Amino acid sequence: MKAILLLGAPGAGKGTVAARLVATTPYRHVSTGDMLREAVKAGTPIGLEARAYMERGDLVPDAVILRMVRERIEREGPAGAYMFDGFPRTRAQADGLDDLLAGFGAKLNGVFVLVVPREVLISRIAGRRVCRTCGAVFHVVNLPTKVDGVCDRCGGVTYQRPDDTEATVANRLEVYERQTRELVDLYRARGILFEVDAAGSPDATRDRIAQVLAAWA
Ligand code: AMP
Repeated sequence: MKAILLLGAPGAGKGTVAARLVATTPYRHVSTGDMLREAVKAGTPIGLEARAYMERGDLVPDAVILRMVRERIEREGPAGAYMFDGFPRTRAQADGLDDLLAGFGAKLNGVFVLVVPREVLISRIAGRRVCRTCGAVFHVVNLPTKVDGVCDRCGGVTYQRPDDTEATVANRLEVYERQTRELVDLYRARGILFEVDAAGSPDATRDRIAQVLAAWA
């Protein structure tokens, strides 16, 4: 089993780049944000518990996240390669992920931190639109859908995430600085951190990461 992480502030482009990488590499995409949004939509116990945290832009409790990720890996099996997006977000989650991987005889192979200036993060989040059906991510200026409000990929309806509004975004950026940023230092100290300039196009960022992945193969 191989495992890599995409790390970075909200709006850094983790989900957008992950979608491009899974199309051209053997990695499967595990986004805890996507899983939680699906759980909220389906009204599962996890969704009911997570909803209020997400609406405020706060982190969902570590135990909930770790159980959700464990169940996903158990369901899909330890074979193959995993790309985690938006997870881990705290030191406790990082430790939990190490334990989880160790249980499968695996370890983290690499961590890619997407580096983007704050003003770019804010404009990306403000213009982000997401497909309600397939989760594809667009942007009203940088990556518009061909038909306004209609997903290019599946024809579903696009919407603005309720936590992408101005009031919540400030908190999400602060939560990143306070709770997640320290993971960059943790992985740098382990020698598995790759800093990636992600201020440009999604394809340019995808290419930078794909180059590193190809060198390992
Ligand atoms: P994202 O789509 O990654 O921006 O996540 C959206 C929201 O889901 C976050 O603001 C958190 O409320 C919650 N969330 C997603 N992933 C995690 C995680 N690993 N730990 C805690 N909360 C999370």
